[in-house]
Amino acid sequence: MTQIHKMLWRVAAKHPTSCYSGPVHCPFCRHEESRVIDSRTAEDGTSTRRRRQCQECGKRFTTVETAALSVIKRSGATEPFSRDKVAAGVRRACQGRPVSDDQLALLAHQVEERIRATGAAEVDSQEVGLAILGPLRELDEVAYLRFASVYRSFGSLEDFEAEIAALRAFPHPPSNPKTPDSGVQES
Ligand SMILES: [Zn+2]
Repeated sequence: MTQIHKMLWRVAAKHPTSCYSGPVHCPFCRHEESRVIDSRTAEDGTSTRRRRQCQECGKRFTTVETAALSVIKRSGATEPFSRDKVAAGVRRACQGRPVSDDQLALLAHQVEERIRATGAAEVDSQEVGLAILGPLRELDEVAYLRFASVYRSFGSLEDFEAEIAALRAFPHPPSNPKTPDSGVQES
């Protein structure tokens, strides 16, 4: 691998959700046609890296392809999943709390991984909220309570008391409480 290839590989690794739709332009000459010379699926199965060679200039580059992930809003409209929106929603619950932007970005990344791990191409906004709760609780319990009170529509002090009791009863939540059934059954 040459220096430029290593650099491109790192760029691709830093932006694993970059989506390429339609023809992939060569980053060197903008030519549209390239040949796939190597293809590998990420360990978590959610993205595929392809080494390509430009048909025009012959230079090599890497693309990372991920499946599109859509969120169905309460209105019924769909929009692309956005880590920024997840982070923005959680940031409101974190006001005045010792939570950094880096931590919010990491949380949004974890939420996306959780949702992608289910294999669904579309999720409703409720499920996004649910996927936020686990990592947020590990990050900051006060922010978690605020977020949960809105997301689960707490209507009374009793709701808060029940949630706080649950927090005390289970101080270390499972890292992935909503793992779908594997579907494997003895026959
Ligand atoms: Zn080219």
